[in-house]
Formats: sequence, C-alpha cells, structure tokens
Amino acid sequence: MPSYRAPLRDMQFLLHEVLATESVLAELPAHAGTDRATLDAVLEEGAKFCEQLLQSLNLPGDAEGCHYDRETRSVTTPAGFVAAYTQYRDAGWPTLSADPDFGGQGLPYVLNTAFFEMGNSANQAWLMYPGLTHGAYECLHAHGSDELKAAYLPKLVTGEWLGTMCLTEPHCGTDLGLLRSKATPRDDGSYAISGSKIFISAGEHDLTPNIVHLVLARLPDAPEGSKGISLFLVPKFIPAADGTPGERNAIFCAGIEHKMGIHANATCQLVLEDARGWLIGEPNRGLQAMFVMMNAARVAVGVQSLGLGEVAYQNAAAYAKDRRQGRALAGPAEPDQPADTLLVHPDVRRQLLTARAYTEGARALLYWTALQIDIEHHHPDEDARKQAADLVALLTPVCKAFVTDNGFIATTQAQQVFGGHGYIHEWGVEQFVRDARINMIYEGTNGVQALDLLGRKVLGDMGTRLRKFGDLVKSFIEEEGVNEAMQEFVNPLADLAGKVEKMTMEIAMKAMGNRDEAGAAASDYLRIVGHLTFAWLFARMAKVALAKADGGDPFYAAKLATARFYFARLLPETAGLIRAGRSGADNLMALDAALF
Ligand SMILES: Cc1cc2nc3c(=O)[nH]c(=O)nc-3n(C[C@H](O)[C@H](O)[C@H](O)COP(=O)(O)OP(=O)(O)OC[C@H]3O[C@@H](n4cnc5c(N)ncnc54)[C@H](O)[C@@H]3O)c2cc1C
Repeated sequence: MPSYRAPLRDMQFLLHEVLATESVLAELPAHAGTDRATLDAVLEEGAKFCEQLLQSLNLPGDAEGCHYDRETRSVTTPAGFVAAYTQYRDAGWPTLSADPDFGGQGLPYVLNTAFFEMGNSANQAWLMYPGLTHGAYECLHAHGSDELKAAYLPKLVTGEWLGTMCLTEPHCGTDLGLLRSKATPRDDGSYAISGSKIFISAGEHDLTPNIVHLVLARLPDAPEGSKGISLFLVPKFIPAADGTPGERNAIFCAGIEHKMGIHANATCQLVLEDARGWLIGEPNRGLQAMFVMMNAARVAVGVQSLGLGEVAYQNAAAYAKDRRQGRALAGPAEPDQPADTLLVHPDVRRQLLTARAYTEGARALLYWTALQIDIEHHHPDEDARKQAADLVALLTPVCKAFVTDNGFIATTQAQQVFGGHGYIHEWGVEQFVRDARINMIYEGTNGVQALDLLGRKVLGDMGTRLRKFGDLVKSFIEEEGVNEAMQEFVNPLADLAGKVEKMTMEIAMKAMGNRDEAGAAASDYLRIVGHLTFAWLFARMAKVALAKADGGDPFYAAKLATARFYFARLLPETAGLIRAGRSGADNLMALDAALF
C-alpha cells in the first residue's frame, strides 16, 4: 500500500521564499488580506484531509472502479467516495477560491492549486469530480445570465451540486468543428438538446443529488465548423422553485468506459433526448465561452501530473532506502548487512532524481503560473493584468504538455526503482503510471498543445508574448550574471534562451513557405520552451538555496543538489531536441500515405 506525506516544506519554500506570494497578493485588493499564516494554515489543514482520507481510498478505488446500472442508467462510485465527498463539502473545500458573491471564500487561485496538488497526489480519480466543477463554475461565472448564475453558481460553489464539461462526441474530439449535437429553441426561452457525448468525466455519479452539465451543441441556423457552436447548461434535474432538484431532465448515462487508469472516475457516454438546456453566452460563440476555463483547466491537468510525480517519487525513495540488493561499486556501504540499499547505485539515483527534478520543476512552474492567473484576474493596474494574461496564455500549453509528459516519465522512473514489484498492483506505483497517462491526452492532446504554443501563441502574435517571457529571463540573467556562485546556472540558461530565440526565427521563416514546417517542429519546440521555463525557475530556486545553504539546513543542500542534477542531466536533452526540431518536415511527410 503506498503512502503520501504532503511536501509542505517544499510548497512553502516556493510560495514564500521564491515567489514572494504574500507581497504579490498584497497588491491585489481581492487578496490583500491573504497573508503567509493564512496560506500555511490552509495548506496544513488540506494536507490532513488528503493524507488521511483521500489517500486511503486511492488503491481500493482503483481496484473496485465505478459501477454502472443499466436499468436505472446510474453510476455508483467506489466504497468511501460519497462519505469523503460529504466531508470535503462540509469542510468548505469547494468554496476555497470561488467568488464570495456566490458563497465562496475568495482565496487566491495559487492556494487552490497547491491544495489540488495534494488532492491529486492522494487520489486523482476522486479529485476529478470536484476538479471539473471548477471549470464549469468559471465558465458560468464569466458568461452566464444573471438568472443562471443565481440558480446554479451557489450550488456549484458550495459543492452541493457538481458540474461537467461535455464537448467530445464519437466522431469529434480535437476537431470540435465537426460537432453534431443539436439545440432547438423552445417557446419558453430554453432549448431542446439532442445528441451523444462520449468520454464525459464525472458525467454520472452518486456524489451529489444533481449534476450541472455544460454542453456544446449547434443551433438550427448555425454556420458550419467551429464558428457555429453554442454552449448550454443542461442540469440532470431541473431545479424546482425552491432550488431543490425537481423534474428529471432527458440527459442519461448510456454506459461507462473500461479504461487504462483513473478507474474510480466515471468516464461516461451521455445521450441527450431533447433535454432542456439554457444558452450560456451568445449564440455560436460557445467555444469562446469555453476558452475562459481552458487556461485554468489546462494548468489544472499539469497539477494532476505534479501530484502523481510527487507521490510516485516519495514511495520510490522510501523503497530505495529500504530495499537491499547488491553492493556499492566503490565497496560495501554497510558491510555488516547482507547487501547495500538501492540508494548506493548511481542508476537508481538517476531514476529517483529524474522523478524528483521533474516534480520540483513542475511545482515551480505551476505555482508561478497560478500566481500570474491571480494577477491577471485581480491586479488594479490594467498593464499588469495584460502582462500576466499574456504570460499565462503563452505558457498554458507548456504547463499542460511539458508537465504531463514529464509526469509520465517521473512515474515510470519511480516504477523502475521498484523493479518487478513496481509492476504489481499492491505497491501502488503502477497505478500512478496508468493514471498519469491520461493527462497527456485529455483537455487537448499534448501534440495539439504544441501546435497551440508554436502556431497561435508564438508565431500567431509575431513572438510578442514570447519576448515578454524572454525579458523576464534576460533580466534575471543580467542580475545574476555578476554572481560567481550562480554561473553554473546562469550560463546554460542564457545559452538556451539565445537558442530559443534563434530557433523561433528560423521556424517562422520556414513556416512562411510551408505550414507543415511549424507542425513538424512543434512538439520539439514545446519541450525546448518547457526546459527554458524549468531552467529559469531552477536557477531562481538555486539562488535562494545558495544564499541560505551555509545555515546548515539540509533542505537547501537538497534543493541545490536537485538543481545541479537538472542542469547536468535533464536540460542537455535540449541539444537533441533542437537538432530534431530543425530537421524540418520532409523526413515526416516524405513517406507516401499508402506506405504507412
Ligand atoms: C478518460 C477520459 C476523460 C475525458 N474527459 C472528457 C470530458 O470530461 N469532457 C470532454 O468533452 N472530453 C473528455 N475527454 C475527451 C478528450 O478530451 C479527447 O479524447 C481528446 O481531446 C482527443 O480527442 P480524440 O480522442 O477524439 O482524438 P482525435 O482528435 O481523433 O486525435 C487522435 C490523434 O491525432 C492527433 N491530432 C488530431 N488532430 C490533430 C491536428 N489538427 N494536428 C495534429 N495532431 C492532431 C491528436 O493529437 C491525437 O494524437 C476525455 C477522454 C478520456 C479518455
């Protein structure tokens, strides 16, 4: 059975010592009162809930999975899930970063992100039920009519009801322009919605008495393609006058998927048989309305992989300290024992440090981005809001794709530390690998994230947003360039920053002649930019650790060792990626389709 301890020290190191969260929040009127003590107190309480309750349900929930009853078209979640949800709701966790006007506590998004990290480490499948509701809440909050907001937001904020996002259909996933679900206006101002949705996470369950589905569908006169998609709110039960769930709506679960991971989260096929729905936002602008929650939702998927990387690392490190196999190459480390622990072997350390560095880098990038989201939403100065919004837009695909690719590497490396035992269910680590795999696929596949980064975010605005991030990196390099002790971090960072600039120009030129050139370079490019963000953040963490290393606190020594490992062994991957990315589209497009 795996275990989990929330990495509070590392979380606090980032929030307080690296990101200066308290002083950033002090500039945001909505969060000016959120001081260090509040942040710490919430994290400590959250840690207890995740470590003690959620974690204990993870392995059994995976083994049991969800149950579908064909007669009633209902879904039952694994044992203990409903009770845990009741406890979660009663403790006020759903309200954490929601708007106080609708019953929320109004705490910063960065705090919610840290809490969700712990929840994902403890039980990703369980956390997805309330996690998805956050996206539905944001979408409704930004685009819903006053009536819809009044009727539904308080229920979603308090967690009394949960929400879903219904985009995917059997014939359309990435290309939502192909969507077929139909919405026909009714006399009372609502719509009759029909169609089939697949792969809807938490589409049906027994955690709450009502479920609020946000559904994409087409109006009768809608233009073809993605410009003709509208967004509708479709409740499972239509609220009665007193706000309780009333008449059963015609949206039903037709089955659940049997899948590789997150077994305890119900992935549902939903059929809509003239279900009643209400328009959110303007007709034919449903995708734009959904984009409101896309950045936060994609960052949240990165947080899923951060959580899994952390818990997988913790269990692998504990195993390596305990398991004895072979002897240290330099001679027995513990001659009085029959064998040394796995930790003496450089290759096992490579596996552990890879998982650890990818996890610490992910935490830094995601918390930094979450704080930018707080600035984007709440800074009183428009320029500051715009600057933060540009950085968030640029780096959202990196938070999603780079972090989830690394999360899969981290969980797989952690599994490797266990040898054959890592392949056995009861140790738990194989579940982390399986659960981590979906994060690379949903919420826009990682290949599509790469196209978004290079095509829309970088080439689409002639590199303006990329330059804004580049300026942050450059000013750090200028400040630390004179610091002898920082050279080992600053020099490779500066080198990579220059190469990214050059490579971006080169792809832009090639793509003008042939758009496939951008498509061919996109995934390599995203990984290279991801490494640039990690190198910048590891250098920032190293700077803090260097200043405090003399105090004798082993935490800072460990931080420095991990940063050095990252620069020496993971960052050099960029050399190969640059070479591959520059090799062009021909080696991908030359093979005739008939020969595949
Ligand atoms: C467990 C699970 C939970 C999910 N939860 C939800 C949910 O809650 N709500 C929801 O609406 N959906 C959900 N999904 C659906 C998920 O978002 C889609 O599976 C995903 O977006 C990919 O769509 P697809 O499966 O149709 O693949 P396709 O779109 O058919 O793509 C297949 C492959 O082609 C690549 N590809 C496609 N188009 C392009 C392109 N233009 N350029 C380059 N490469 C391309 C993709 O990257 C991918 O590798 C879930 C899926 C799963 C498996």
